[in-house]
Amino acid sequence: MRSIVWFRRDLRLRDHPALAAAAARGPVLGLFVVDPALAAPVGPTRGWYLSEALASLDAAIGHHLVIRVGDPAEILVAVAREVGAAAVYVTGETTPRGRARDTAVAAALARAGIAWRPLSTPYVVDPGTLRQRSGRPYRVFGAYARAWADRAASTPGPLETPPVTWVVADGSAPAALRDVVGTRRPAHLAGLPAAPAPARPPAGEDAALATLLAFVGRADGYGATRDQLGRDATSRLSPHLHVGALHPRTVLAALDTAGQVAPEFRRQLVWREFYADVLWHDPHSAWHDLRGTGAPEPDRDDAARERFGHWARGDTGLALVDAGMRQLLTEGWMPNRARLVCASFLVKHLHLDWRWGASWFLWRLVDGDVASNQHGWQWVAGTGTDAAPYHRVFNPERQAERFDPEGAYARRHLPERYGPGALVPPAMVDLAVERREALARAALARGAR
Ligand SMILES: Cc1cc2nc3c(=O)[nH]c(=O)nc-3n(C[C@H](O)[C@H](O)[C@H](O)COP(=O)(O)OP(=O)(O)OC[C@H]3O[C@@H](n4cnc5c(N)ncnc54)[C@H](O)[C@@H]3O)c2cc1C
Repeated sequence: MRSIVWFRRDLRLRDHPALAAAAARGPVLGLFVVDPALAAPVGPTRGWYLSEALASLDAAIGHHLVIRVGDPAEILVAVAREVGAAAVYVTGETTPRGRARDTAVAAALARAGIAWRPLSTPYVVDPGTLRQRSGRPYRVFGAYARAWADRAASTPGPLETPPVTWVVADGSAPAALRDVVGTRRPAHLAGLPAAPAPARPPAGEDAALATLLAFVGRADGYGATRDQLGRDATSRLSPHLHVGALHPRTVLAALDTAGQVAPEFRRQLVWREFYADVLWHDPHSAWHDLRGTGAPEPDRDDAARERFGHWARGDTGLALVDAGMRQLLTEGWMPNRARLVCASFLVKHLHLDWRWGASWFLWRLVDGDVASNQHGWQWVAGTGTDAAPYHRVFNPERQAERFDPEGAYARRHLPERYGPGALVPPAMVDLAVERREALARAALARGAR
């Protein structure tokens, strides 16, 4: 019996439960739908990266990937009728918009008498499936991580995909995506660099596996080096995990095979799952404070917009912030330490809205992920899952001394500021003054509650 595998955040062939199940039933049509409603607000960097990952998947299946542009509910029904498919297999979606879209598609398919088969998710433990004894969702990482470990211990490892017979049909090229992405840009990002990051990481399943292979042998050293920015010691797996060129199950299995305990690294993967779980239970938290009121009101006037522009362009005069923001512009990626420092500077020293920063990150990052990004920002802003948040203010100069002591990271991304005759711009704000201002605003907001 013929089936459709509708690829979304699972652009790979290996360890793919939905594809394995469809292939076991008969011939498979591989489909990707460019949905203008979801693609228009995606930044060009992530859009182009996604089109590269799609091109790689298309090549891996002999150029039989069918790409259609339009409303997924209409397209799925039409393509299923066109090729006589009785079922649509997908990796379950967990984001608010993805879930809403899937509900609409499943209903349209049901009306047409076509089966809807979601299997697995892009996570080891499916978001929404762990709860505290009280029945409430987890809000504290440590407790979630313990429950996650229990559940993960009993989940199956990577799954082999049986040989697939691909069904052929007409469709667009992967580059079709590039015409649609970036066409709905948030107003507060107007005037900021729009071109896709030129030095994007390599995309596709082979690149993902090569990145994983290059990392696993040194995973045990990760805990000691991950924050040393000059050493570039993290895995760089986030873009691959984001588009699903790799499932985290495969990452954990590779660590086991290599005999790498790597507890700090495994813990980071659990953060990814935790944030997806928090978002699953509280879809509102994508753009609203998770913990309700109590955060200081950010500035939103013209001066605030000007400060935002300096930050986004990597033009604050603070080496670590500017290096991170320039890396974001050129590579569409930043290490976690740089993300933390840049985000903290925006919220705590520039007194701007975490949502402005989060939307710029989402717009520029190749791994821009609504769960990890929005909750990473909320962690920094003190509105999210962290319990003692407002008074934590990262000092970008102290952070640079600790995590980039030789200035290797800053030099790499701001070469014009080093060497003879280099012009070093002054810091755009007085760090001590703005720290005091941030704490005063936080105290005022708490008092007003
Ligand atoms: C303000 C802010 C915004 C962020 N935005 C994103 C985003 O849009 N997409 C994204 O994937 N990550 C985001 N992160 C998390 C983290 O910074 C990146 O996942 C990490 O830097 C990616 O590099 P890596 O693959 O080398 O990570 P490694 O350090 O090698 O970690 C391995 C994997 O664990 C996961 N991970 C690591 N740290 C975190 C974390 N703090 N939260 C959630 N998952 C984590 C990622 O999947 C990562 O690939 C954000 C963090 C902050 C503070």
